[in-house]
This record gives sequence, C-alpha cells and structure tokens, in this order.
Amino acid sequence: MSEKSLRIAHLYPELLNLYGDGGNILVLRKRLEWRGIRCEVEEVHIDDRPSFSDVDIAFIGGGSDREQRIVCEHLLAEREELVSFVEDGGALGAVCGGYQLLGHSYLMGDEEVEGLSLVDLYTDRGAPRLIGNIAIESRIVDRPIVGYENHGGRTHLGSGVEPLGRVIHGHGNDGKTGYEGCLYKNVVGTYIHGPLLPKNPGVADYLISRALERKYGDGSLEPLDDAAELAANETMYQRLISGEEKE
Ligand code: GLN
Repeated sequence: MSEKSLRIAHLYPELLNLYGDGGNILVLRKRLEWRGIRCEVEEVHIDDRPSFSDVDIAFIGGGSDREQRIVCEHLLAEREELVSFVEDGGALGAVCGGYQLLGHSYLMGDEEVEGLSLVDLYTDRGAPRLIGNIAIESRIVDRPIVGYENHGGRTHLGSGVEPLGRVIHGHGNDGKTGYEGCLYKNVVGTYIHGPLLPKNPGVADYLISRALERKYGDGSLEPLDDAAELAANETMYQRLISGEEKE
C-alpha cells in the first residue's frame, strides 16, 4: 500500500442517484484500492454543512426536478466552499441533474432556479425530453464515452467553457450543437448516466489523476486490466454506430 490517499465526497446520494449513479463512487474507490491508494468516501447528506478543504474528488449525480430543487436550495449555502474547491483545482464529477446545478440557472417549468455558478453555463428546457443511448468523443479519454441520457434540460455553455466532447450518437447538451458536457479546470460535467464510470474507466482515471496531481504533484497512474470494462464500452459503441440501437 502506498502512502497516498484520496478523500471522495459523494453529494446527496439519497436524492441524486438516478440510473445507478452511485455506482460511480464504487468505481472510483476500487480503482484507487487496486492501485494501493487509500480511499475514504464521505457521504454528504442534505442537512450537513460539509467542508471541502480536505476533499480531493467530489461527485454529484442526477435526479428528478423535485429532488434537484431540494438539493439546490441546500447547496447554495455551500457555494463559497465549492467555488474555492473548484478554483483551487479540486476534481468534481457531475452527472445530469448535478451537471445542471453547476451553472447559473436551471429552468423548472416556468420558474428559473438559481444554480451554483461554478461553471459559466445555464440550462433551459425544451421538448421532447432527450432520451436514449449516447456515445461521444472526448479529448480526456482515448475511447468513446458511452452511456444513457434522459433530460428535459438544454444546457448552454458560456464562450470560455470547453465541452466534454462531441456527440457521435445521441443528443448531448441541447440536441443541436453536437456538444456534450463541460470541462472547466478539473470539473467534468455530463448528461451521461450509465452509470458513467464503469463503462468509461478512462473518465474515472481522469478524475483520479487530476486529484493526485493536485495533492501530490504527480498524476501518473499505474495501468489496470480494463479488459471487461473496455469490452462493455466497445459492445455498446458498436451497437450505436451500427444503427442496431435506435436513439
Ligand atoms: N431533471 C433534469 C432534467 O430532466 C435532470 C434529469 C436527470 O438527472 N436525468 O433535465
């Protein structure tokens, strides 16, 4: 076991856990442990007042509008903490509802709900919901990122914000621009559930590597045997590009 350890904060698992998003935490934990890096996971619940000063990776999943509203009201109180964490290079993974909360605002029905303004983006709504399997290409990994999306929100990135990637199959941020997700400092925002990380181990390693780099000045990672994960990724990718799997 190396001396290294990372602390993961899993935000609001009881509310934001659509399509098995909690599985992402399991993947981060196992990929650290397999490399002999100690991992502590702290679940942050709705009435907690978390400090992010000793957090290395934060993760927030997706949820229904109702759950998202509850989370957002509480999370705004933690805004300063989260801004410092992100601006200091903290690694943050955010999926779907969690991704939308990163921005300035989110439209629920006709009501605009204030977001965390961690990243320069905002989300309005459109019809129909954007539902189905998705594959994108992203500079952070050398395989396509595959998964599942289901959102009414349409997310618009500010001019300085890089998308996570380009849609190969599916809808992405707004169904029009061909962009999916966002990258800002060490934040990865995405509409991709799956859960995201089991089929896309490169995305898990990106977050881990960024966190190790920030904490220890060395983000290099020992390779793991990802044969099973990459076979799952490849199977889904082939189904999508062959047209076998409809949007
Ligand atoms: N409630 C959000 C929307 O529909 C996010 C849903 C989700 O997390 N899948 O846009």
